[in-house]
Amino acid sequence: MKKMYFTCGPSQLFKTVPKHILTALSTDIPSISHRSILFQQIHEHTVSSLKKLLNIPSNFHIFFTGSSLESMERIIQNCVHTYSFHFINGAFSKKFYTIASELHKKPNGYTAPLGQSFPAIETIKINKNVELICITKNETSTGIEFPDEEIRKIRNRYPHVLIAIDTVSSVPYCNIDFSKIDITFFSVQKGFGLPAGLSVLIVNDKAIEKSLSLSQKKISTGSYHNFSSLEEKYIKHQTPETPNALAIYLLGKVCDDLQQIKLDTIRKNIEKKAAMIYSYFDNHILFQPFIKNVQIRSKTTIPIITGKHTLPLIQYLIKNNLYVSSGYGNFKEEHIRIANFPAHSMTNINTLIHAIQEYTKISLCEDGRLEKKQ
Ligand SMILES: *Cc1c(COP(=O)(O)O)cnc(C)c1O
Repeated sequence: MKKMYFTCGPSQLFKTVPKHILTALSTDIPSISHRSILFQQIHEHTVSSLKKLLNIPSNFHIFFTGSSLESMERIIQNCVHTYSFHFINGAFSKKFYTIASELHKKPNGYTAPLGQSFPAIETIKINKNVELICITKNETSTGIEFPDEEIRKIRNRYPHVLIAIDTVSSVPYCNIDFSKIDITFFSVQKGFGLPAGLSVLIVNDKAIEKSLSLSQKKISTGSYHNFSSLEEKYIKHQTPETPNALAIYLLGKVCDDLQQIKLDTIRKNIEKKAAMIYSYFDNHILFQPFIKNVQIRSKTTIPIITGKHTLPLIQYLIKNNLYVSSGYGNFKEEHIRIANFPAHSMTNINTLIHAIQEYTKISLCEDGRLEKKQ
């Protein structure tokens, strides 16, 4: 049986990826020069397909970086002189904050209690001098979604502050309203079902202006990947460094495929699959979803409290060629996390649930509890 990856990233490849890799090899894409017309055409195609798929307005520029952690670092370097503000509700939002601090900025933040939502935005104090507000749309470590209405409220309250949203593990499921944000970024190994090693950093004119104003003040905005170097090459359909042309090519192809299926259909499917997963675990005798508040439950990366069963369950699933993520950080031996990306079909999710059901039966029998339940 073929292995299935419900891991949070890298994850299962989108079904058309092997075919596109073969085409890329047979047309020598890994060998072509990144200064050639052929590369420029690939770049142009990927950018335009991505813009169409995600409805990205023309005042946004699309840059490629090596990872989303790199994108976080570039955003801080290019958009913050001194003060950033971070909504922290897990390891990835915390990382954004830490990067700002490591770059010797003065980040501030609001940390939500573990597994819970943020309070109403009106009650969170954000200083007037903050230059950038950072939000994680889907906090992969804790499985919490940041509601779109809250992003709208933040924009209305702070119309002049740059807003960056990390959409790494929710794109293309999340429907980004580009009029409410200035910057977003994601890696391709999560929702796009591609190999890791490429991040897409999408920034508007206002973010580029901020970067220029920092350079004029002799503040370092980085070197080859500062916004002006990225922009200079972007308009020529190139990248400053020798890029992962294969990854850029594959992203364009998967964007085409997703458009064929229609993003709306993909989103509805993700919701259906998520509902199946949550309803199974909401009624489970041994396990429960980590997030209790249904309003903020992630649809794409779902942590389940599995307690002492965590390691045996993961082992059991591996024996059945099914791979899930363990819990993040301190939850490593307490949770499993299940990814629900466009690459995962309804049948895949059914297979996983069925296997977990089998594990549950075996373990209840071993404990002599099965009769009790019946
Ligand atoms: C995975 C992830 C990242 C980091 O992505 P890399 O490609 O590993 O740098 C950042 N933010 C979120 C929400 C993630 O899920």
